[in-house]
Amino acid sequence: MGEFWSKMDHYRQYRRSTSYSYSRDYEVRGLLNYSLSCCVNSLLQSFSATTELLDILNKWYPSDGIEQSNVPQQFKNALLAMRDKSHPAPHRDFLDSLYYHAIRRGTQQDADEIFHIILDLIQKQMPDVCLAQEIRSLYEIKVETQVQCSKCLFIQREPNSLFSLPLAIRESENTLESCINSYFQLQNLENGEEHHCNQCEQKQPSTHGLKLVSLPLILCVHLKRFRNDRGFTRKLHSKVTFPDNFNTGIFAAGQSENVANDSPRADEHYSLYAVIVHIGTAMFGHYTAYIRPTQDQKWYYADDSSVQPARWADVQDTYKGCDTAYLLLYRKKSCNSSG
Ligand SMILES: [Zn+2]
Repeated sequence: MGEFWSKMDHYRQYRRSTSYSYSRDYEVRGLLNYSLSCCVNSLLQSFSATTELLDILNKWYPSDGIEQSNVPQQFKNALLAMRDKSHPAPHRDFLDSLYYHAIRRGTQQDADEIFHIILDLIQKQMPDVCLAQEIRSLYEIKVETQVQCSKCLFIQREPNSLFSLPLAIRESENTLESCINSYFQLQNLENGEEHHCNQCEQKQPSTHGLKLVSLPLILCVHLKRFRNDRGFTRKLHSKVTFPDNFNTGIFAAGQSENVANDSPRADEHYSLYAVIVHIGTAMFGHYTAYIRPTQDQKWYYADDSSVQPARWADVQDTYKGCDTAYLLLYRKKSCNSSG
């Protein structure tokens, strides 16, 4: 019972604290590794640097009757507690809520998968559907699949939404822009891959393309370094360069002509603020994170409980090799923001 009440006190304290503004220029703090939690730890560092997410969570006051295992509540508590450097284990209850609902304790995780699991559980378990939708919109990339029949030119369209942009990478050298171009490139569906055309009412050679409908405020890019070859997963250590700032024009270039109309604006700017790093091979890996809480601040390197200042050159070291960038988090710059 004592533990319950101390938890309740703790919780009320955080509820009260939500009425205060929190510092945006916070110092990144370390997180202990509990049962191989490096993947969740690294993701939490990136979520913690996403002040837009904290702004939404701060509008939510969970009712007293909410279950202890509720993921969004523990997520909010963890992010607020991470700003208190004296707190010994800000993420302990959040990890327990994830272990309770979705992931197995003590196993190797895939950061993109866990990123999706966390956002999906927030959607499912947050009683305030409007705020859950706000969080969804913060990360949601909208695309439209377009399959065009080569014979009658009829286009079948299907809307799709994604929390991360899944970019395939080549064995040779890549740039973020080249990966985006390949993702949106038109593909011919022929030689056994013909698509059923609803107008011709039979299978026809077709082209398959993706049209970008909208980009979110927070753009998560997933560099797909794990490839499944005949049942074996291997990691691609090839080079992928990425900029710390880019203009949405790089998306316009990837859009083929017939889908380019009414695409999102090409003059918006994104700035990198977090990189989730995978160290090791497909079999044995560890996750760490580079974080830049605000554009004016320096980079930090968070490896579980250890946090050190870092340079942009250190982040660039994750282009290739053993310690490779796996998820990139970019934030859309507002019109009036400097830098
Ligand atoms: Zn047709």
